[in-house]
Amino acid sequence: MDNWITKQAALLPDRVAVDDGTERLTFSGLAERLKKLVGQLNRSGALAGRRVAIMTSNSLLGYQMALAILASGRTIVWVNWRLSDDEINQQLSDSRPSVCLVADSLWRDSFGGKFIKFSQVCQQAAQPEELTSQFQQETVASIMYTSGTTGAPKGVMQTFGNHFSSAVASSLNLGILPRDEWLCAVPIFHISGFSIMMRGLIYGMTVRLVSRFDPQVIDTILRKEPVTTMSVVPYMLKKLLDLRDQHAGGYNKRFRCMLLGGGPIDRQTLTRCQKYGIPVVQSYGMTETCSQIVALNNEDADKKVGSVGKPLFLTQLKLAADNHEILIKTPALTPGYLNRPGALAKKKTATGWYHTGDVGHLDAAGFLYVDGRIDDMIISGGENIFPDEIEAVYATYPGIEDIAVIGVSDPEWGQSPVAFIVSSKPLSASALSDYGRQRLAHYKVPRRFYRLDRLPMNAGGKIQRFKLKERLNEGR
Ligand code: ATP
Ligand code: MG
Repeated sequence: MDNWITKQAALLPDRVAVDDGTERLTFSGLAERLKKLVGQLNRSGALAGRRVAIMTSNSLLGYQMALAILASGRTIVWVNWRLSDDEINQQLSDSRPSVCLVADSLWRDSFGGKFIKFSQVCQQAAQPEELTSQFQQETVASIMYTSGTTGAPKGVMQTFGNHFSSAVASSLNLGILPRDEWLCAVPIFHISGFSIMMRGLIYGMTVRLVSRFDPQVIDTILRKEPVTTMSVVPYMLKKLLDLRDQHAGGYNKRFRCMLLGGGPIDRQTLTRCQKYGIPVVQSYGMTETCSQIVALNNEDADKKVGSVGKPLFLTQLKLAADNHEILIKTPALTPGYLNRPGALAKKKTATGWYHTGDVGHLDAAGFLYVDGRIDDMIISGGENIFPDEIEAVYATYPGIEDIAVIGVSDPEWGQSPVAFIVSSKPLSASALSDYGRQRLAHYKVPRRFYRLDRLPMNAGGKIQRFKLKERLNEGR
């Protein structure tokens, strides 16, 4: 394939490629900027190797720096700026980029010689350079570490072909309108955000870039600007709905899709969306599949509340006969994890089905419901329990700010659930048990309730249940 950026600069030179609210860059303007940046990156020694790491928030300069890496023919290694120094160094020693480019605002004094500030790059007096002419299907465009919800992060290699098929499958479901504008408030170092950048280039679509998630700011943009689509994770959606409760008037008339993914969502939140006429498309995917591979379309949203929908056009899906694990085949699937030869093959069946690690069920019409992760599943007296179900029941208990449920071994039942709660004052264990017994099957009621100041979360805001298990084991 031709380089997607130079291609759009030729096809749609005057269309806005990216808009951060203060500046709008057309595709031709973007291509010119990237030529300059590639010259400057080269001059600063950043292009000495095959890979360049980048640590940035959703800033316009970060956006361009990342695309300049691609346009120079190098691979982007995305670094999550919320990680600790140790975690960053682990990922860099695994991926071995020539340098790690860092947004000035994210600079840390601990950073050594391998790290370069954006401003150092932009200061270079260098001639613009031609951009690479090809984005080859098999070339690794990006390396993105998984969130580390279930263990140590692994570097997922994502090819141009993976990103392309992901964008095409999404468009076959959502359609593309001539003046679509996709609001990107999810981090661009995560697949949720980077896939918006890729769709922007492939569709010739405007990306409305937002530097951080401030619900009030986003609500105003959704009301006043011609944004048509936005990607959200459950937490963001809830915050936006809180504002809808307070303000009259809906989003701008062209708004057509709130693409929701990343984790389970409760029915109450979806009902609130219906009340405000916010069109939600639930979706399911992972870093390994370059974002969504299953999605619920608008027409089915009302009938299938709680489902993540049907496999997209390029996704084949089935459930494992024994444990109902979700198995998939898709051209968006990564060719493998960096420096872990064979690690992906271990997750595939002999006929090429990829084991997602998630358990689900399908209804008679073929709609998928994600039940939870295999690793989180609690098997008690032969019954499968998913923490999400218990957590959702207790989420509305007065005084509980946060809750996570895990399984512990139980001499009688094999395993039984226990809960970790965050509350400003101690809560009565017997009242908590009674509450659960009224709403849940007996075997799902947590046997114990531990109080914590905060739950262990990864940088993406997902609860790391494995850390709670470690905590209990250490306590023994
Ligand atoms: P790690 O693989 O390092 O443990 P992670 O799996 O959390 O991290 P991601 O690739 O960001 O990293 O997340 C994908 C996972 O998120 C899926 O495998 C699934 O468990 C969960 N998920 C995504 N979308 C949904 C959804 N709509 N409903 C329920 N779970 C979801
Ligand atoms: Mg995962």
